[in-house]
Amino acid sequence: MILSELKPWEEIMGYLAQDNNLFLVGCSGCAEASGTGGPAQLAAVQEHLEKEGKKVVGCTSIDFLCQKALVKSRLRAKSKAVLAADAFLVLACGIGVQAVAAAVNKPCHPGCNTVSLGGIRGKWPGMERCRECGDCVLHYTGGICPLTTCTKGLLNGACGGAANGKCEADKSRDCGWELIYHRLQQLGRLDNLKVFLPPKDYSKMLPSAALRSTSFYALEQPESR
Ligand code: SF4
Ligand code: SF4
Repeated sequence: MILSELKPWEEIMGYLAQDNNLFLVGCSGCAEASGTGGPAQLAAVQEHLEKEGKKVVGCTSIDFLCQKALVKSRLRAKSKAVLAADAFLVLACGIGVQAVAAAVNKPCHPGCNTVSLGGIRGKWPGMERCRECGDCVLHYTGGICPLTTCTKGLLNGACGGAANGKCEADKSRDCGWELIYHRLQQLGRLDNLKVFLPPKDYSKMLPSAALRSTSFYALEQPESR
C-alpha cells in the first residue's frame, strides 16, 4: 500500500491561487485507506473549497488512480466538467497525481504528500513513479515527478547535458526536465520554474511517529525471521 497524508490547507490554497473552477479527483484504493482520497474526504475538501470561494465543477473518486487507462475512461465520461475546470486537485499518492496530469491537459495540483510505508505497492503498468519523498512538488513541475523522471533527481531544472531530448546519463531515457518544461509550456505555467525548491528533507519520507506505532504500519513491514 502507498500511504498519503493531506498537505497543509494553506499550501493547497496557495497552489490554487490562479484557479477558481476546480475538478476534484480522489482514489478509492490506497488513498481512501490512508484517509485522504475517498468519497468522505472529497466531500470534506469540496466543502472547504467552497467556503474559500472556489467552485467545484466536478468531483470523482476512481478505484485505482495509478491505472491511467481507467482514469482516462472515467474522466471521459465527465468531459463537460473536465472542460469547465481551470485545474484539478488530486487527493492521492504521487503516482495518482501524475496519472491524472497525463490524462488531462490542465494543471494538476497535489493535495497530498506521499510517505514511505514499505510493503506492497500498486502493480499497474505505467511510466509514472513516486519516490515517496513526503513533500510532493508536482504542482511546480506540471505533474511530472523530477525525482523519478530526471535520472539525477534534480529539483530545480536541467543539468544541461541532454542531447536531442535524451538524458546524458542514460540515452535510452527522455530528459525529465525537457518533459517538465514542455508540459509547463503547454499549460501556460512556465512561471512555476522561477520558484526555487529547497533541497529535500528526506526525514519527511517516513510517516508520522504516531502512525509508525500502529498495527496498520506494522502490517506493511517485512516479516522478521
Ligand atoms: S515529488 Fe515525486 S517523489 Fe515526491 S511525493 Fe511527489 S511524485 Fe512522489
Ligand atoms: S539530461 Fe535531463 S534527465 Fe538527464 S540528468 Fe540532466 S536534467 Fe536530468
